[in-house]
Amino acid sequence: MKVNENYLKLEKNYLFIRIAEKIKAFQAEHPEKKIIRMGIGDVTQPLAPVVVEAMKKAADELAVKETFRGYEDSGAGYDFLRNAVSGYYKSFGADVPACDIRINDGAKSDCGNLVDIFDDSNIILITDPAYPVYVDSNLMNGRRIVYADSDETNGFCAMPSPDGYLLEDQKVYPDIIYLCSPNNPTGAVYTREQLSEWIAYAKAHNAVILFDAAYEAFIKDSSLPRSIYQLEGSKEVAIEMCSLSKTAGFTGVRCGYTVIPSELKTTASDGTEVSLAQLWNRREGSKFNGVSYPVQRAAEAVFTPEGQKQVRESILYYQKNAELIAGTLSELNIPFTGGINSPYIWFKCPFALDSWSFFDKMLHEIAVVGTPGAGFGKNGVNWFRLTAFGDNQETEEAMQRLRSMIK
Ligand code: PLP
Repeated sequence: MKVNENYLKLEKNYLFIRIAEKIKAFQAEHPEKKIIRMGIGDVTQPLAPVVVEAMKKAADELAVKETFRGYEDSGAGYDFLRNAVSGYYKSFGADVPACDIRINDGAKSDCGNLVDIFDDSNIILITDPAYPVYVDSNLMNGRRIVYADSDETNGFCAMPSPDGYLLEDQKVYPDIIYLCSPNNPTGAVYTREQLSEWIAYAKAHNAVILFDAAYEAFIKDSSLPRSIYQLEGSKEVAIEMCSLSKTAGFTGVRCGYTVIPSELKTTASDGTEVSLAQLWNRREGSKFNGVSYPVQRAAEAVFTPEGQKQVRESILYYQKNAELIAGTLSELNIPFTGGINSPYIWFKCPFALDSWSFFDKMLHEIAVVGTPGAGFGKNGVNWFRLTAFGDNQETEEAMQRLRSMIK
């Protein structure tokens, strides 16, 4: 047998492993120091009570013969949840019918698996910096990637290049475009105008946009789009992935959804029209048996009026942290993006340090941990990510420590 050698070409030292090793070494040297972790993007607030109740009730149903459920017929999600997600979209102005929605075990799986329905010869465009899953899942199939620079000059919102992108000395146009808004790691959010430009570009070059909206619930400014489907013409070019992980604390429970509109079609090499949703359904029919019933009932509860009220409380808790971090950086005159419509805050490393040196300085001088921007791409080399998912008091304490270090 031969292994898929593309795996051997992947970055070996995964970002969070290196961070964990550095923390472990520091704590062994300084057991008395209390480290504040503002690096990893996991949530800390517990599940909303209505969500837990719904999950328990569903578990009880499974204990009774009359209400027991085994395999879900389609594996695409129960109608009750797909309808609830469709209603949620409607609440902020996106018309997404339930039949275009598939329920999954979180956005990461589909971010990684969607590449299965596209040919390996496609050219992939990924904004730099980016959530590493986009790069890795394409490198695993040996795909060629071009990068669109997100940097200080464009407010970390890369825009399409009308002249194409350089790949091995050739000018190319991408076939598959990954966009993430609000962005991980930069916290930057595309405006309606900017997203419309990407939609027009995808249309002009017969490309598809894979739009990651995992952090949409953090958008406060109602003029900013929470879904690409709030924009005209998007259904012919865009797939959207979303998740309850950060919206409702489902990082451990695992539930998300992907939208592939029925309008999204392409032409096969023999000239026949192909529906991407049908192709994806075919793929999922072979490789995925759906999300557990109690988890889908828990997710349904998130979209009830009471559920929305309760999950909002946790989001507000994190938004308070984000405001605190953003306020501190403003006060210290440190350039940053995010934090207002996003749980991520991305700032320029002070003292002209590169991001790993700044990581070491923060860890050793003030025992605060963040994520070096270099882990997300070349444009992150001098930038640093903090997250708002921590404890309020610890975030305040971390900001005091940062003030003392910078001043
Ligand atoms: N997309 C982005 C941009 C993320 O940051 C994450 C998680 O951190 C995910 C998708 C995946 O989240 P999950 O698989 O928990 O839904």
